[in-house]
Amino acid sequence: MNDLETEEKVDVLVIGAGPSGTVAAAILHKNGFNVKIVEKQKFPRFVIGESLLPRSMYNFDKAGFIDTIEKAGFQKKYGAKFADKYEVCDFDFSSQFSDGWTWTWQVKRDRFDHILAEEVIKRGIALDYESEVTAVRFNEDGSSVTQVKKENHTSNIHARYIVDSSGYGRVLPRLLDLNEPSKLPERSSFFCHVKPKEVTSDKERMRIIIIVYTCDIWGWVIPFADGTSSIGIVGSPDGVHRYKGTKEEQMRKWIAEIPALQERFTDCEMVFEPRTITGYSSEVKKLYGNGYVLTGNALGFVDPIFSSGVTLATESGALAAELVTDQLDGKAVDWEKDYSEYIISGVDVFKTFVNAWYSGDLQKIFFSESPNEKIKQQICSVLAGYVWDNKNPFVKKHDRALSNLAKIVSS
Ligand SMILES: Cc1cc2nc3c(=O)[nH]c(=O)nc-3n(C[C@H](O)[C@H](O)[C@H](O)COP(=O)(O)OP(=O)(O)OC[C@H]3O[C@@H](n4cnc5c(N)ncnc54)[C@H](O)[C@@H]3O)c2cc1C
Repeated sequence: MNDLETEEKVDVLVIGAGPSGTVAAAILHKNGFNVKIVEKQKFPRFVIGESLLPRSMYNFDKAGFIDTIEKAGFQKKYGAKFADKYEVCDFDFSSQFSDGWTWTWQVKRDRFDHILAEEVIKRGIALDYESEVTAVRFNEDGSSVTQVKKENHTSNIHARYIVDSSGYGRVLPRLLDLNEPSKLPERSSFFCHVKPKEVTSDKERMRIIIIVYTCDIWGWVIPFADGTSSIGIVGSPDGVHRYKGTKEEQMRKWIAEIPALQERFTDCEMVFEPRTITGYSSEVKKLYGNGYVLTGNALGFVDPIFSSGVTLATESGALAAELVTDQLDGKAVDWEKDYSEYIISGVDVFKTFVNAWYSGDLQKIFFSESPNEKIKQQICSVLAGYVWDNKNPFVKKHDRALSNLAKIVSS
């Protein structure tokens, strides 16, 4: 055997150093556990998911990250604009129904995730980059041995609990056969970062823009603090990839095609070659098991339209960390009710909104002639990520509330 093999013992092994993993690890460490994070890639690394939601601020706060993020000077986000060819519907997070944070950030994730990862290292959490989980064996009591490879070195990590925050890697869903096909139709995304010729004004930078192209194709503009922006096109794979040519040529055709992109980004510089992610929606059979819990994208992903990914990733990371704490402290934990049902209830609200978006109902509501202010505030709260606020009828009875409203505005 050429490989060097070592044994290591920790209380909790966290797989993946995205926001879900670092939030979970920071809370577990604060609660007194010996935590280790293993991360497959070298940081900084690119990942998509740049527009955050105010609700995620609670979880960054619980992890003690707010000051660190604030110091990094990321672009502040105060709302979201939805625009079609003729109209703009502006959601200002300060006019929302739910109590709580009314702003957040727009972030380049390579730098953002790296800052959080370095912060947890500073606090004394062991984080190994370029270390890939390749196998896991669970014992009857839920403890486990995880095989982690780094170059020609293999470590066997003995853990009392595993938090799988491996994002699109979906380590435990793959190894334990937990993946389920998504019930949503396959969609594709095509995106890049651009540097416009004219600097975006400070005021315009404070909101993301969602552009309606057709019912099933839309675009995003996420401005960053350094004057560059993220732009993307999302929808049916055939629709998104309708243009021929190099990736840059295809993106320039999209910029020329959509007036809101044309006026901002004609002759822009492309910071990197446009990229594609297709078939990103995913689900799992269960969110937890004996000795492990799935968090963030490892437990599933719905759709980018409402920027819900990092909010769900940090909400599940923070909650999992508190429940693992209770479990390792010998308290009884009802994982089904306190974790699965809670997380799924929030995901379901987003799913209803995603389906209403692609059916065209939400566009009708957003661009209706006389929006009712109270209803707008309630919808604004969902768009700010407050999908667990059952005082909000668009959370408590999300399905019925949205379809009834769509009928009213269409009549
Ligand atoms: C087109 C598109 C646009 C999106 N836009 C937004 C948006 O605007 N806002 C938003 O909030 N979300 C958005 N998302 C979703 C967002 O990308 C994710 O929800 C978010 O990054 C999930 O965070 P995470 O911490 O769960 O996983 P990640 O950030 O993916 O981190 C997981 C980490 O695990 C590591 N890993 C994987 N496998 C292994 C292994 N075997 N061993 C060790 N480590 C491993 C990876 O290297 C990675 O660093 C978008 C998604 C798509 C597809």
